[in-house]
Amino acid sequence: MTTDVTRLFNFSAGPAVLPLEVLDEVQRDMIALPGVGMSILEISHRSKTFESIIGQTEADIRLLAAVPDNYHVLFLQGGASLQFSMVPMNLLTTGTPADYVLTGSWGQKAVKEAKRVGPVNVAATTEADGFSRVPASGEMKLSAGAAYVHFTSNETIQGVQWKAEPEVGGAPLVCDTSSDMFSRPIDVSKYALVYAGAQKNLGPAGVTIVIVRDDMLKRSPDNLATMLNYGTHAKEKSLYNTPPAFAVYVVGLVMKWIRANGGLSAMAAMNDRKSAKLYAEIDRTGFYRGHARSDCRSTMNVTFRLPSEDLEKEFVKQATAAGMDGLKGHRSVGGIRASIYNAFPEAGIDALVSFMREFEARRG
Ligand code: PMP
Repeated sequence: MTTDVTRLFNFSAGPAVLPLEVLDEVQRDMIALPGVGMSILEISHRSKTFESIIGQTEADIRLLAAVPDNYHVLFLQGGASLQFSMVPMNLLTTGTPADYVLTGSWGQKAVKEAKRVGPVNVAATTEADGFSRVPASGEMKLSAGAAYVHFTSNETIQGVQWKAEPEVGGAPLVCDTSSDMFSRPIDVSKYALVYAGAQKNLGPAGVTIVIVRDDMLKRSPDNLATMLNYGTHAKEKSLYNTPPAFAVYVVGLVMKWIRANGGLSAMAAMNDRKSAKLYAEIDRTGFYRGHARSDCRSTMNVTFRLPSEDLEKEFVKQATAAGMDGLKGHRSVGGIRASIYNAFPEAGIDALVSFMREFEARRG
């Protein structure tokens, strides 16, 4: 049973659109989980029911991404932003620098926090090109014996996405995958650690997923605060303290939805198709201008400009009036951003493409 309301096409960068089937199930079971007689909002995190919910969620994550056995899947709080600090606090302890590869605003935030913790080397940055691309291998100046190399698989603000992992030799690879985790297959075995705030492809805000290789846990200093130590959460299976139970529950439902819809390869095929429709429209004439270089275009956040800021304002205003919400680009870069995560319906892409054509015909 779906509540009888009009749903807009929600292009928000996050928190973002969730699958309608998931919202339906949350609504149906909100008062009492089947067979439990209490709401997910009311049960103890130590109950058998919650243990089973978090266990199944982890099992589905492991299954979807083929997570090897020597990795821990953690459900943490503090957002991806806390990971900007936790990663260096736990891993930047080898006496060698951490390398950061910067392709946009979130990588800049990550490196700022790492610098508070220990030695950092910016191995490459494409800031001089307005963060419109990822660097080529030859541009990266990696440190000898780097503690780790950090990159951002998809820069949510600029709409720049790595199509394959950077070549970093044998250095442990750490990735902020906040805005594209589970939008496509991921080879976890290539990474020492990946993290993502849930509120784009994975669920609601409030939980951050961290997948960390077991050997990395040995690096954490003994005097690190208990809650900031990955080892605490790995040992206690994310139940050291009260986890964000509702958010974990919804992530579990989203994982079930991804499985029912063909898994990560099917998500990738769908996301390629959806984003290609928008990029084709951007490229059709010179009226719209894509921000990212074509080989680094994000399948998740499609960023583009119009000939003037006035036209961009008008575009957003009229699109909003036509039922398309959240198209205004991030305040730091302007322009238009269409965030089209896994759960964003293809009908919304078609609606935006029609609107773009019609707007150009009127104002181009
Ligand atoms: N990294 C990326 C790539 C993001 O898109 C975001 C949020 N938009 C963050 C980090 C910060 O996440 P949070 O708000 O969960 O701290």
